Amino acid sequence: MGWETARKDPAYGRAEWRRARLAALRRANWRCQRVLPGCAGTATEVNHRQGLAADPHHADLEAVCAPCHRQITAAQANAAAKRHDQVPFVPRTRW
Ligand SMILES: [Zn+2]
Repeated sequence: MGWETARKDPAYGRAEWRRARLAALRRANWRCQRVLPGCAGTATEVNHRQGLAADPHHADLEAVCAPCHRQITAAQANAAAKRHDQVPFVPRTRW
């Protein structure tokens, strides 16, 4: 009952996220940990290194600035699209 209640309460997820996000930023001393071309230097966002779907409890975060975060997100989307392309998909019907 306790677990179910916590899981269904949307405020629980938000509090957990806020805590994890702030901890990641503090750990990095508010400096961007990626420093990609166009980096703003100061981290204001955090990136899920393995993607949110793989890390719903925000255990593997890195502090990033907004420009870097955009590039990381774009690269992740690209990689996902590539992986999808590489899956051999040969539709076959037997009739
Ligand atoms: Zn950056």
